Amino acid sequence: MSLKEKEDVRIAISEKRITEAGLRMTGARRQLIEILSESERPLSIEDLSQRSQGKFDLVTIYRNLEVFRELGIVEVILLENGKTLFELTGEHDHSHHIVCRNCLKTERIDFCMGGELERYASSRGYSNLSHTIEVFGECPDCESKG
Ligand SMILES: [Zn+2]
Ligand SMILES: [Zn+2]
Repeated sequence: MSLKEKEDVRIAISEKRITEAGLRMTGARRQLIEILSESERPLSIEDLSQRSQGKFDLVTIYRNLEVFRELGIVEVILLENGKTLFELTGEHDHSHHIVCRNCLKTERIDFCMGGELERYASSRGYSNLSHTIEVFGECPDCESKG
């Protein structure tokens, strides 16, 4: 599949989830999903606003991202500074990331080691478990720039 075809598939999957939830695929939703799918890295709300040429205000973007998150269309990456980035969910329902704290370059880690943590929480009597794990560091590009 070409990159463009892959994008189309991701947009179609997202659309299916939205309509199956009884919601409408509005112009704003479609455009936000397109921007996310074309992006080479996870985006902040401000990035999305910029890339939509200011067509949507931050509240509209935020609300739609919340819908996307609830439907499993996007994943949220919480950065060390408390900011959040958004990316379309990959083949797996959730993934972890390596984030460069200098340039914010992000790599997906397509395996999950959260099971053991959740088993521990479960043994402590906790239910309805979830987890977020991100790894932060300096990427090779940033390190070579010194
Ligand atoms: Zn970097
Ligand atoms: Zn996990």
